[in-house]
Amino acid sequence: MRAIIIGAGITGPVTAIALQKAGIDAEVHEAYQRTADGVGAYLNLAPNGLAALQVLGIDQHDLGGFDTHTLALRSASGRPLAHLPMGRDDAAGTVSQTVRRSDLYVRLRDEAARRGIPVEYGKRLVDATTRPDGGVVASFADGTTAEGDLLIGADGLHSRVRAILDPACPPPRYTGLLNTGGYASGVSVDAPEGTFTMTFGRRAFFAYANRAPGDVWWFANVPQARAATDDELAAWTPDRWRAELISLFADDDGPALDLIAATPSIIAPWNTLDLPTVPVWHRGPIGLIGDAAHAISPTSGQGASLAIEDGVLLARFLRDHGDPAAAFTAFEAFRRTRVEKLIAQAKRTSNQKIPNPLTRVLRDRVILPLVGRAAARTTRDWITDYRIDWAAPTNHVTS
Ligand SMILES: Cc1cc2nc3c(=O)[nH]c(=O)nc-3n(C[C@H](O)[C@H](O)[C@H](O)COP(=O)(O)OP(=O)(O)OC[C@H]3O[C@@H](n4cnc5c(N)ncnc54)[C@H](O)[C@@H]3O)c2cc1C
Repeated sequence: MRAIIIGAGITGPVTAIALQKAGIDAEVHEAYQRTADGVGAYLNLAPNGLAALQVLGIDQHDLGGFDTHTLALRSASGRPLAHLPMGRDDAAGTVSQTVRRSDLYVRLRDEAARRGIPVEYGKRLVDATTRPDGGVVASFADGTTAEGDLLIGADGLHSRVRAILDPACPPPRYTGLLNTGGYASGVSVDAPEGTFTMTFGRRAFFAYANRAPGDVWWFANVPQARAATDDELAAWTPDRWRAELISLFADDDGPALDLIAATPSIIAPWNTLDLPTVPVWHRGPIGLIGDAAHAISPTSGQGASLAIEDGVLLARFLRDHGDPAAAFTAFEAFRRTRVEKLIAQAKRTSNQKIPNPLTRVLRDRVILPLVGRAAARTTRDWITDYRIDWAAPTNHVTS
């Protein structure tokens, strides 16, 4: 079997590496040139995603990130609301990693190339068709084509493969928040290294993680009722956006204003989107995985980890089912419930970040303290303790 993978973000290279482990050849085609421009933000890789990478022999400490072991939630006045672990003391010591998206992309692409997997750049997929003999032909904007036995759409939130499979697929949903962030230097904060401190501010949500003394990574979620248009986003010049953030956080406790001031270049705001349900995940030998199939709000801290899980799991299904169409069908039956349950949960969490005087008291006095106490008691968590048994056969797995 030979797989054509579209997209060299996170899912694409991971899937190619997993397929190689399953004895299936793969080649990856990426629309952009090799540099990972436009991915200035960072993300959190959770223990479930890191454990899936370990199945492929990729160590959590080889990703260019830093250990992030605790999540501390605070109210606008600085009152501690909950302390949540971001990893478990399992045998592998799997602790969340905070990593720049661009660093992660480069490391995964390089790892795929190091293992002999072809990664082609400047190849923007425009069409995919099925041959009479059951194979697939991918057509690229530069006029070239590639042929294989199956095609995997790992081309992200605005997937072209998804549109080819189902032109009527609902577009991504706006989740009510603008996102922004940056890297502050020369400022010290009052939390231990490796702690993510998140504040439900009076007007917006602010979070920061200290990588090392004087090196603090932060993000902010700014509520806005409807998605900003491209023109509205462009109107936020760097100076206007900085001034807006300063006014949004002026009345909150915590280091937000110092961190904003110590950030030379604040990442321009963008709309936060998700895909609550994608009706068509596959047809014949063409299928979707990662954000293309189930983009989740960044609030979850799970998009990348789910993408990695997908790649390793799909490889297992393709290993065990001789026919790509059967493998895609079985993969969807197994996978859809977990990812859509998580997307729904992430949307509810996003809603908590939108200040609301009626629900604030309930959130700060009841819900979050309860969540914190529950996390302190339990040693298992259905999201981050998810582990993949590579050796287990998938032929008879249905859900
Ligand atoms: C700012 C931000 C913060 C985030 N924070 C977190 C976080 O903290 N934790 C977390 O787990 N997740 C987070 N996420 C989500 C996470 O980045 C995604 O879930 C993850 O990148 C999905 O991987 P993917 O490979 O499926 O898609 P992508 O990473 O989007 O990669 C898709 C690739 O396909 C390529 N492509 C697109 N169209 C074509 C085409 N037609 N032909 C060829 N190639 C194409 C793209 O150029 C890209 O390289 C965040 C996302 C953003 C935007």
